[in-house]
Amino acid sequence: MEKADKPLKIIDKSHLCQDEFTNNQLTPSVVTNFNCCNCNQNNQIKIVPYKTGFPFSSLYLNNFLSKEDILDFKIATVSSKWSLHLGVYLVKNLPTLYFIEKCTHCSKNFLIVFGLGESQLGKLVCKISGVWLLKDM
Ligand SMILES: [Zn+2]
Repeated sequence: MEKADKPLKIIDKSHLCQDEFTNNQLTPSVVTNFNCCNCNQNNQIKIVPYKTGFPFSSLYLNNFLSKEDILDFKIATVSSKWSLHLGVYLVKNLPTLYFIEKCTHCSKNFLIVFGLGESQLGKLVCKISGVWLLKDM
């Protein structure tokens, strides 16, 4: 799990095996796989709720990711007015986080973005909006 420290350039989107998890699928962690769009290696993603990830807002507040990229690549959507306190761009209007992971084979960087929180009372959801291949930094 790595943090962005410079602007990100998105190249391509990877295919994710499963992107939405609820309640007990979140304990002890969310585990899913994606295929690297560069070398086709199968990589595992592991999200430990409330431990994995950095605030997604830091990406657009630092201009590491443009509003156009966020919306055009469907990384997140403009938050509803009831969720604005969580950020301007959110996944499913949930608290939204990101991290960068390397392909275990070719070491290309991937951006992983997800929303995690209660979508309604007693329903905990983790929705991964996608896994994107990044241009070498
Ligand atoms: Zn790869």
